[in-house]
Amino acid sequence: MGNILSDTTDAIKEYIPGIRVLRMSDAYDMMNVNESQDDYLKSVMESGANLAALRKIDLKPCEPSSMGVAEEMSKSAIMEVPTGLRPTGSVSIGFFESGLPHTRPPNTIWFPESILKSSQRKFNETFLHECIHLHQREHPELWRDFYESEWGFKPLPKSKKLVRDVEERRRINPDTIREPLYIWRDQYIPVAVYKNPADANLREVRLIFCRPDGSWTAVEPPGWIDLFGTTEPSICEHPHEMAAYFLSDNENPFDSLAARKLRTRLLTINV
Ligand SMILES: [Zn+2]
Repeated sequence: MGNILSDTTDAIKEYIPGIRVLRMSDAYDMMNVNESQDDYLKSVMESGANLAALRKIDLKPCEPSSMGVAEEMSKSAIMEVPTGLRPTGSVSIGFFESGLPHTRPPNTIWFPESILKSSQRKFNETFLHECIHLHQREHPELWRDFYESEWGFKPLPKSKKLVRDVEERRRINPDTIREPLYIWRDQYIPVAVYKNPADANLREVRLIFCRPDGSWTAVEPPGWIDLFGTTEPSICEHPHEMAAYFLSDNENPFDSLAARKLRTRLLTINV
């Protein structure tokens, strides 16, 4: 026989289909499942700069101080996600002591626990950003086609590598790990690199544009600003990030040509 509290929790769970906030032990288990599907931590271990950056933050799962608050905020946030972009199936929500919000397969969103102290509006914005990454994971062809036809990006074939000194400084992003490099107009590969690889910090990166011949420049290529309107490294490092930022920043909506093309295309997304 359940008590009133557990009955209430069950009722809330029924009311929020598909949301599961992870308790401590489930969070550890989920992290292992994530790793078995994307090898993100393995890639980090193999890269000195990324390992140094991750060591600076506390990427340790934790249980939110209030499961109720975490569930309520997530429930409100998912209602704000446009229907066509909502994840299908169950979404797991996990929390870390600190770090940056990100997603991992299958359908898992990780947040720093401190996000629960922000306003619901700010939480909704980040939640939407992460749901767009889940949608990108679920419908890779749809996004790839859009990037190519409207933005001029193609995934860089796996056989093509960055030169070693750039690869060693590249920030690995779990949200783009499946196809980490895209080439723009067949000439430029945007890459977020650590400013100080010997003492790397996840938040201290700059954007460079690599050419297929191995050379690179920090100056944006001709036409880049006209289309995207920004060179902010965390946005421009990958079309997945541009799409997620362009669609989720409601406070300062992007008005670039690329953002307008995406919003127009969204109206026709019917998945
Ligand atoms: Zn992102």
